[in-house]
Amino acid sequence: MHEITVVANIIDIAEQEARKAGAYSVIAIDIEIGKLSCIEKAAFDFAWKHGVRNTMLEKAERTTHYIPGKATCKTCGEVFELSELFEPCPHCGGYLSEVLEGNELKVRSLRIEETNNI
Ligand SMILES: [Zn+2]
Repeated sequence: MHEITVVANIIDIAEQEARKAGAYSVIAIDIEIGKLSCIEKAAFDFAWKHGVRNTMLEKAERTTHYIPGKATCKTCGEVFELSELFEPCPHCGGYLSEVLEGNELKVRSLRIEETNNI
């Protein structure tokens, strides 16, 4: 299941960032997932639930933003929304297009709890 790898990557990035900031744990995380990134929501939620165990993100509140796909047609220049890859241009029917948005898979922001000094 490809979502497990994706979740592991996100947790890695988040933990690195949190450590750099001297955090004790992550309270909240905002993630962006492009609709063209082939992530299945249910599988992602499942992978997340198991993936965060024993990490700094175990108790983090997760907000997921789904970014719609957007492409520009290389034939006529039309910019259009697409819900999956290789959709034809609605203007000219061409298949040659360049994806502008929708492949995102990133951490938008983190809210952390800083280490308490004893
Ligand atoms: Zn076109």
